[in-house]
Amino acid sequence: MKINALVAHDATKPLSSSQIALRPLQQQDVKIEILYCGVCHSDLHMARNEWAVSRYPLVPGHEIVGRVVETGTDVTNFKAGDVVGVGVMVDSCRECHFCQQKEEQYCESGFVATYNGIDKYTGDSTWGGYAQNVVVDQHFVVSVPQTLPLAGVAPLLCAGVTVWSPLRHFNVKAGDKVGVVGLGGLGHMAVKLASAMGAEVTLFTTSPAKGEDALRLGAKRVVVSRDAQQMAAAQTSLDFIVDCVSAPHDLDPYLATLKTNGRLVLVGIPEQPHQSPNVTPMVNRRLSISGSSIGSIQETQEMLDFCGKHNITADIELIAGEEIETAFARMLKGEVKYRFVIDMQATHW
Ligand code: NAP
Ligand code: ZN
Ligand code: ZN
Repeated sequence: MKINALVAHDATKPLSSSQIALRPLQQQDVKIEILYCGVCHSDLHMARNEWAVSRYPLVPGHEIVGRVVETGTDVTNFKAGDVVGVGVMVDSCRECHFCQQKEEQYCESGFVATYNGIDKYTGDSTWGGYAQNVVVDQHFVVSVPQTLPLAGVAPLLCAGVTVWSPLRHFNVKAGDKVGVVGLGGLGHMAVKLASAMGAEVTLFTTSPAKGEDALRLGAKRVVVSRDAQQMAAAQTSLDFIVDCVSAPHDLDPYLATLKTNGRLVLVGIPEQPHQSPNVTPMVNRRLSISGSSIGSIQETQEMLDFCGKHNITADIELIAGEEIETAFARMLKGEVKYRFVIDMQATHW
């Protein structure tokens, strides 16, 4: 089944429209007509081979919202016409400890990524959401609440669940003092979700001009991280921080803003490592640093249902596929407000 997609042919050339072949529909598969796909910073890291794992040709995109057009004979969860989402995973081993616990993102064999993964059936690459269609096993498809504007839902499938998962896993609750570092795609979802959970949110940003937006999105306080005085004023004020920055940076100033027993969770995956943090304050104040990888299918559904109930979607700029390189360039400058989303119907292939 040949379809049109935006393809990265190597790390240096711009993405261009080409045809790719999707796998034939399997018994458990759902074929989706893609309506919208968010543009995650991971797509840019991967298109440019910044993590040194990219295999070309590569079709990015793992924030997919679309409509079911066909289902395999064993599909029970979905039917043609349903509005559904697909995030970062399209399969996993289903047998290991983590798969059994419904934490497929930590599958011991490694989950099958929506793109640049190995398709179980064809042995070929998996192809992402910058495309007209995708074929996915029903277990890795989620339902989208009917009430939400669909373009703004797309970024929830990666950016949303990636910040939702650590907030839930580490039991962030109403009244907690939560810091969010970086107001990009992930960061702006962290501000929205943490404040909707009742936490009091402080946003750290390198872009003073984003301050007003942060307050509108739900933050109670904005700290310009390059201003030493503002950072000093925020010392030992937070219980929990989600660091959503895509570039290497010094973690020590953020650790200093945590109270005793506080935790810094890293979700950004920079091309180069962060410098090692100073352990002394970590020891003296029993601080923790954690990482967190996306979120499970179950968490993705819970987050979407929460967003449906609280009327939460991403703040987006809608683009056509042919504008992707401009979008990447603006993303690199930290200039996105706050997620680009590709409108497949507006795209000329
Ligand atoms: P994004 O929209 O580009 O946002 C990143 C933000 O980081 C920028 O808006 C900027 O915020 C800040 N920033 C950028 N460069 C900086 C620098 N040199 N120093 C300090 N701050 C800087 O990216 P995203 O899509 O949210 O993704 C963020 C990171 O998370 C990426 O590395 C991505 O690959 C990773 N990611 C991880 C997972 C996971 O499973 N853990 C899932 C998805 C994405 P300010 O202007 O406010 O400073
Ligand atoms: Zn992503
Ligand atoms: Zn597994």
